[in-house]
Amino acid sequence: MDGQIFDERPQTRTKYKALGIHHLNQIADIGCLSKEQIQTIRIVGQVFPFRTNDYVLKELIDWEKIPDDPIFRLVFPQRDMLTEEDFMSMARLVKGDAPQSEIECLRHDIQSRLNPHPAGQRELNIPTEESLPIDGLQHKYRETVLFFPSRGQTCHAYCTFCFRWAQFTGNKELKIASKDADTIRMYLARNKQLTDLLVTGGDPMVMKTRALERYLHPILQDSSLDHIVNIRIGTKALSFWPHRFIHDTDADDLMRLFEDIIQTGRSLAIMAHFNHPRELATDSARQAIQRIRNTGAVIRTQSPLLNHINNHEDIWAALWNQQVQLGLIPYYMFVERDTGARHYFELPLAKCVEIYQKSVRQVSGLARTVRGPSMSATPGKVEISGIETVANERVFVLRFLQGRDPSWVGRPFFAKYNPQATWLDHLKPAFGQSSFFFEEG
Ligand SMILES: *Cc1c(COP(=O)(O)O)cnc(C)c1O
Ligand code: SF4
Repeated sequence: MDGQIFDERPQTRTKYKALGIHHLNQIADIGCLSKEQIQTIRIVGQVFPFRTNDYVLKELIDWEKIPDDPIFRLVFPQRDMLTEEDFMSMARLVKGDAPQSEIECLRHDIQSRLNPHPAGQRELNIPTEESLPIDGLQHKYRETVLFFPSRGQTCHAYCTFCFRWAQFTGNKELKIASKDADTIRMYLARNKQLTDLLVTGGDPMVMKTRALERYLHPILQDSSLDHIVNIRIGTKALSFWPHRFIHDTDADDLMRLFEDIIQTGRSLAIMAHFNHPRELATDSARQAIQRIRNTGAVIRTQSPLLNHINNHEDIWAALWNQQVQLGLIPYYMFVERDTGARHYFELPLAKCVEIYQKSVRQVSGLARTVRGPSMSATPGKVEISGIETVANERVFVLRFLQGRDPSWVGRPFFAKYNPQATWLDHLKPAFGQSSFFFEEG
């Protein structure tokens, strides 16, 4: 296999250190940022969380290609992520050394206009036990529960498009997280329809292996939880910090934990987040993939389709081809969600389905396991299957991949074609219907 694309590059250190808005001068030295670029990052970074590390800076970003470099846009806040008006207001405060309280006030104001909790996450998905909400769980689809361990609520670096951005900006009311392992086990034990536990965050891979074990071992050993047969761990560590699986002091313990999970007869899926083929090209990423696969875990992949980062069919075809070659299973292509700097990243649904179709047509059938483009919307995960003309009307053909009501899954439905629509709530039912079938009752 080739893949030695970056062997001319400096070796990065293997001890993790987060670099944030207070390290911009240090970052500028690594990456040759101008004074003006630093200032822009400082201004936009007041609103959108910013964090990176040595591996991302030295092995993923191609500094000769900034500002167009996709990984640069993935981790560094960009000027156009704010409206001109908001940018100018924040610039005035930052340049004028305004008191922190004034900056925070403006930050709150801007953030609150950016739909910090999309798709009813807060109100609709949190399960209750004796009518108290259970902190740290989200249960939307019958067979799968999401678990947000409290120590896993950050990431090795932050994506500028992240729909969890509100969690990272220190606003406590917006956080979803958990410390109470017993309450969670009780909920799992009582819900026998569950088969899947998806550990997510943030990124649970920022946790020490011992902390992760404290959550998972009791679940693995509890015979009242035998119905939980699939464990998934959602992570972007394979792209932002592959050393987590190779060089971190507890990387070997982590591999043993993966083996322990599989030893109980369960399946373990690492739900890996990759936005661009570059993230798969480093030696470290490839070693980490190999180590994880050696434990018997399966790696499935997902990414949103993002303007300025991966908005071309050839990028996706390369991404999926390389994944299949490395033994990964392409799983989801998502539509960028209706939150944060969506105006910067979003693409019309019509464009999304065009890119999906053009890329999926280029790849082996083994890579066509990928589903999408899908919207994680309030009623469920909705895939745009295509655009057709039916009975003289131009329509989007849609279907539920997941639904709040499981009987919706797989059911096709139709919306009037709308070339500007970027989300489900922009769509109107086709064929003169007054509502979609899932809105009835
Ligand atoms: C996507 C998602 C899942 C998992 O759905 P699968 O189709 O099983 O991959 C579970 N819960 C929520 C809230 C989700 O968004
Ligand atoms: S790794 Fe995932 S959770 Fe973390 S910032 Fe990126 S998209 Fe958000």
